[in-house]
Amino acid sequence: MTEARFAEKTTPYLLELAERSDAVRKMYVYDPAHEDIPADIERDLLSEKANTAVPGGVRKFDGRLLVLLSYTCGANCRYCERQDRVGVGLDRLGRLGTAQIDTIVDYVKQDGELHDIIASGGDPLINPKGLEYLFTSLAEVEHVKVMRIHTRFPVQSPGQVNLDLMRKLATLRPTMYLSLHISHPDELTPEVEDLIAQFRAMGYLLICQSVFLKGVNDDVEVLYRLYTRLFQLGVRPYYLYHCQRIPTTARFEMDLRDEVAIMSRLRERLDGLAFPQHVIDMPAARGKVLVPTNHWDFDLGHVTDFDGLTLSTETWKARED
Ligand SMILES: *Cc1c(COP(=O)(O)O)cnc(C)c1O
Ligand code: SF4
Repeated sequence: MTEARFAEKTTPYLLELAERSDAVRKMYVYDPAHEDIPADIERDLLSEKANTAVPGGVRKFDGRLLVLLSYTCGANCRYCERQDRVGVGLDRLGRLGTAQIDTIVDYVKQDGELHDIIASGGDPLINPKGLEYLFTSLAEVEHVKVMRIHTRFPVQSPGQVNLDLMRKLATLRPTMYLSLHISHPDELTPEVEDLIAQFRAMGYLLICQSVFLKGVNDDVEVLYRLYTRLFQLGVRPYYLYHCQRIPTTARFEMDLRDEVAIMSRLRERLDGLAFPQHVIDMPAARGKVLVPTNHWDFDLGHVTDFDGLTLSTETWKARED
């Protein structure tokens, strides 16, 4: 059996864009010098396997269920934190089918505390039938007040977004969020900006998640342009993540001090509404924790999760006093 590596996967649209954009090329082009390492499919970096409440459903935070609708994406980002699952065939089906979705919906129905259901993956738009089935089933559940779609597909293949489906999903709940994963202003092409305008007209509340990436967006001017443009387009910057440390992504991971310095400059320059929350999704712990700006004195060497577990940010291991 050959060992699975996180394959290169792009789209014609991205290949064309990569010719004009170094940032886009770095985000998608396989680099054998750094990535010729088998994907460790036993890994549970974000404790998602340990917090699987129902097959395909991760419950780590109060009130919310994250549904991994598909293990496939429109294209494979080289810095992906879920590359132990995405595209390496952990799940032979690669996507949730109706029987598994029925089980998830039953699970949500019997728990009135679950008010926010998040369709994720992989990319949920790669499983349009499953997404439609999940959300139309949940639309009947009174205690589900918010549904979100977290996707990167629109910036990977804007011409292939199923607009009829998106329009239909937008009407299922008064509060539907669409979270777009965008990390560089070069990703905001005219096609993407046009899609964003259409999503707004459909009634989605638009937010954006990004990842800090060395050599791609580790720059005040680049992030200033990204967030100002998103703000102007009506997309609220939500999270900017610290890149997760796995062997294949080491070249992207930034020093936290550099991230803090950039965020502190941006705090001064950006409209308040254009400023994202800088967070670490703590590995092997439970918490997306906010990183402070350097307007405060603080210790970047240690961080404590929602359950009181303190980790060293150098090693991401429990503190040894
Ligand atoms: C990020 C995440 C959520 C959503 O968290 P918010 O902070 O509310 O956006 C839910 N479940 C899991 C497992 C997550 O990683
Ligand atoms: S779109 Fe998200 S899940 Fe898919 S490869 Fe990129 S980072 Fe990973």
